[in-house]
Amino acid sequence: MKSYHQDDRNLIPLALAAIRAWEKRWQPFEAHVASAVEPERLQRAWDEYVRLLGLNAPFFHPRYAGQMLKPPHPAAMLGYLAAMLINPNNHAADGGAATGEMEREVVREIAGMFRFPDDALGHLTSGGTLANTEALWVSRELRPSAAVAYSDQSHYTHERMCGVLGIQGIKIASNAHGEMDLDALETALQGGNIGTVVVTAGTTGVGAVDPIDRVLELRDRYGFRVHVDAAYGGFFTLLAWGDSTLLPVARFRAIAQCDSVVVDPHKHGLQPYGCGCVIFRDPAVAAFYKHDSPYTYFTSDTEHLGEISLECSRPGAAAGALWLTLRCLPLAAGNGLGPMLEACLRAARNWSGLLAANPGLNEFVSPTLDIVTYFPGKPRSVGAIDEASTRLFDLAMRSSDPVYLSLLRVGAQQLRERYPALASDAPQCRILRSVLMKPEHEHAVEGIHQRLLELLNTPD
Ligand SMILES: *Cc1c(COP(=O)(O)O)cnc(C)c1O
Repeated sequence: MKSYHQDDRNLIPLALAAIRAWEKRWQPFEAHVASAVEPERLQRAWDEYVRLLGLNAPFFHPRYAGQMLKPPHPAAMLGYLAAMLINPNNHAADGGAATGEMEREVVREIAGMFRFPDDALGHLTSGGTLANTEALWVSRELRPSAAVAYSDQSHYTHERMCGVLGIQGIKIASNAHGEMDLDALETALQGGNIGTVVVTAGTTGVGAVDPIDRVLELRDRYGFRVHVDAAYGGFFTLLAWGDSTLLPVARFRAIAQCDSVVVDPHKHGLQPYGCGCVIFRDPAVAAFYKHDSPYTYFTSDTEHLGEISLECSRPGAAAGALWLTLRCLPLAAGNGLGPMLEACLRAARNWSGLLAANPGLNEFVSPTLDIVTYFPGKPRSVGAIDEASTRLFDLAMRSSDPVYLSLLRVGAQQLRERYPALASDAPQCRILRSVLMKPEHEHAVEGIHQRLLELLNTPD
């Protein structure tokens, strides 16, 4: 098996050579002295920079099983670096001639993955937050006085951005698996003026997938828009149209019938940060984006990406990196991205099996995607779970053979659904959470699990 960062050393010169050769098509000129930096000064700054970057946890390593963090794929690095040296801006065709087309192409591919119609409208964004904000904003423009409902497990951005947009937000309770509770949703629908329901395909906490297919049945009765926040889980849709038994396929397939969807290529799409995506089923929502720019929209009569996006400047390099990556690893179940995502799903299933078989660590909710949640020790009280989890979290990170995990705050009530005998001495507590978003995790979870058990038996 090749390592995750297989080709970097050959790829960087490739990008540099290509762009420097392209620059040679124009007259040579002398760089202005104003931008010169003394070599010693650069060296000192660089040394300090490298030292500071060393403070990061090793996101690239399989023993990093914490937050949603990993380096981009080498193809993404190559694509990003080459375009970054030119620095196109995908706001308008003037600024992003090639990368603007690439953006349209990858957005069409992503829309195809969700089985949205061919004329669906979409673009890349700086991330999931902006992408979701645009979807909420369009919801508000369509139904100005209506509320937006989202589950209490949805990303915090929905509540916050409803505030920013002046939309009434309604929080819907979730069940023991972290999925939106349909009875609670229906009660809210009967009670009020809900214009949009946000469903999540892969919650950030535990990776739960809301029952999107059932929410669509409610839509038939109550009439509301459905926006899917698939920032984390969206790419798993690839696997849902095959015969995968690893996924709740009906929920993912139902995304095809929803009004808008957000996915983050900078999460499971192998991209560096700065790459989200929003797609609308109805291209007519482009009308809401209408504005005039006296500076930019001149070189092309076709629509500029800036005319269908709330952001102005956006990195063409982000689109270029995603385009090159998808050329190498297409959005397909059997090759490209599919096998990687399947390996992540198997990693979580494998670890879940180990948790069930060993009393030292207890599972919180069974993984739907590739996020495992657990806590050490006998489930006695909420306070004891918090103490044991934070102790193991610190110990694992600081040990000589470290494992990096993350913490998740959960409610006592949700814990008691699975462990009814638990003493509720606190309303909530922290447990451990591992996002297994690298395919290498498939073969690493057994070692991680063993190492954590070892650490648990280490005296203070
Ligand atoms: C990560 C995430 C977001 C926020 O996206 P950013 O890219 O971090 O801005 C929103 N929703 C969900 C479900 C997420 O996982």
